[in-house]
Amino acid sequence: MEEKLTAEVKQTPLPELIKSWETEDFGEDEFLRFVEAEGGLAVLKTESMHLGILHPAGTYYYNMNHLKPLPYFAIMPEHFGRMLRMLNIGMVPLISLNLETEFYDESENSVNIIGQITGSDPKLKKEQIIIGAHFDSWHSSTGATDNGANNVVLVEALRILTQAGYTPRRTIVIGLWGGEELAYLGSLAYARDHFGSLDEEPNTESKKVSVYLNLDSGVGAIRGIFLQENEFARPVFSKIFKPIKDLCDGTITIENDLSTDHETFDHYNIPAFQFIQDPLAYDTATHHTNLDVLEYVPEKDIMKNAVILAWIIYSLAEMNEKVPRKSN
Ligand SMILES: [Zn+2]
Repeated sequence: MEEKLTAEVKQTPLPELIKSWETEDFGEDEFLRFVEAEGGLAVLKTESMHLGILHPAGTYYYNMNHLKPLPYFAIMPEHFGRMLRMLNIGMVPLISLNLETEFYDESENSVNIIGQITGSDPKLKKEQIIIGAHFDSWHSSTGATDNGANNVVLVEALRILTQAGYTPRRTIVIGLWGGEELAYLGSLAYARDHFGSLDEEPNTESKKVSVYLNLDSGVGAIRGIFLQENEFARPVFSKIFKPIKDLCDGTITIENDLSTDHETFDHYNIPAFQFIQDPLAYDTATHHTNLDVLEYVPEKDIMKNAVILAWIIYSLAEMNEKVPRKSN
């Protein structure tokens, strides 16, 4: 196949992306005012998906200073449809709802979990390899495939390296981010603390980060990496994948992967990458649904992914040079 040198999936600049999410939330206010004026007690929403799967997409989330939301319930399309048809013929369905929940002002459950293995090379230890996955999830199930298991994979990769008695040349940082599902809040907070505000030139600390690796495409085996349009990084990953070709195909694409925390680091001109993973039932069934549970995490794949990751982290931490940036 002909090699592609430009990416087809366009990345929206991060500040623009954040702005669009903010205005998207406010768009609900008008609807909420209408429902309140009508004397509504709750909102029932439905999302058409594969048969029998409950998807809570479209349930509203509340930001400080927004209108106080009504209780939202995600229901199955067939239940929604039946109620609509009853109403259309003048029958009034009787609905009983039970909601037990609490609104927390304190963000005690939305935190970043950061760990570090300090490098040993006198010159290189000030440089970092950062690996990350998000720790939060959606409310319809426990979030095993998005993104619980990948947190486990990253921790396990570091455990393998530590257990083997390895001391890296560069410093390795692990970030398990809170609030990714709410607009990359955790990784953004970390990045602002360390690399400066979004609208300024990336600071000197950002230049010490050799690479950021993100794991958040479900729980299938790692097959390769998205270059995020950073063609200069291709030789680095070709070399790294070569010795593990029995474990991982090592596909490298110039394409972008979107919609998760590596976009935060990419904004600061840090080489930031997501992995290509077997899709399994991620997009069709488990992503954000009531099926995002441990039963759909293939143990062998995530064990293999931890080994692949351990090798990649090791290789990046030992290189003489940093991973090349898109622009210098
Ligand atoms: Zn995710």
